[in-house]
Amino acid sequence: MTRKKYLYQHYTWPEMREVITRQPVVIVPVGTVEDHGHHLPLDTDNFLIWEICEAAAQKIQDEVLLMPLVPYGFEAHHMDFPGTININNQHLYHFMLDITKSLAHHGFQHILIADGHGSNMPILELVARQTVIETGVSCAAFIWPVLAADVIASVRESAKPGGMSHACELETSLYLHLDRQRVQMDKARREIGLPPSKFIWLDLAQASPVRFMDIWSGFSETGVNGDPTLATEEKGAKIFAAVVDRFIELIREFRSRSRNKPVDHHQRQAEPRP
Ligand SMILES: [Zn+2]
Repeated sequence: MTRKKYLYQHYTWPEMREVITRQPVVIVPVGTVEDHGHHLPLDTDNFLIWEICEAAAQKIQDEVLLMPLVPYGFEAHHMDFPGTININNQHLYHFMLDITKSLAHHGFQHILIADGHGSNMPILELVARQTVIETGVSCAAFIWPVLAADVIASVRESAKPGGMSHACELETSLYLHLDRQRVQMDKARREIGLPPSKFIWLDLAQASPVRFMDIWSGFSETGVNGDPTLATEEKGAKIFAAVVDRFIELIREFRSRSRNKPVDHHQRQAEPRP
């Protein structure tokens, strides 16, 4: 195993002191251990977000630092499926905030939380906001499909919305591209169990305007929500490349983004001299 320049945990602390002075963007990947139908392993969200982060970090090694993966997420609605590990949403919030505040304490100015699991997002968005409020550093959170929504739409064949929600055309295509040996395509089954709605649906590529998360086993027998039977390695390759490219763009933009200092308007500002 060689040392990797982009991996946070491969540095010693005196080296880290130097690394902080060049202000790389720190990437904090978050996934989960969760049922993904009969055809995908429990590691799907962890595996996909890690591969995306590592592929991006390898290409711009001087500009980023990749943290160890946080492998557990908020799963209370998935607990009817054997194997899923649930972290209480308050625990996840405080755990993640402790990580970002530690990074800010050491002097890092730019933190991106890269999420692989939809239900982590409301929590991670709050973590990012609270980090900004408490520490002043730049901290933002995103889930990977939003980076390449246009490319995903261009290869998509499944019903919209609903066909790309969970263990679906999207996630299965990416997994096939990254390691087809671990995907049991003969067991993939289409399931879109939620009632049709103008306001409420689940789709990784296009969030619904109204948010409602039901207990998963009530509307999905296999745990799938979407259509994995339409997944292909080719779609996965195209989407993966686009997500990695956009992630690099995001990192660069985020690193050079200008921010004004906040102004406390409680004190009357001195009148400009005539
Ligand atoms: Zn997933």
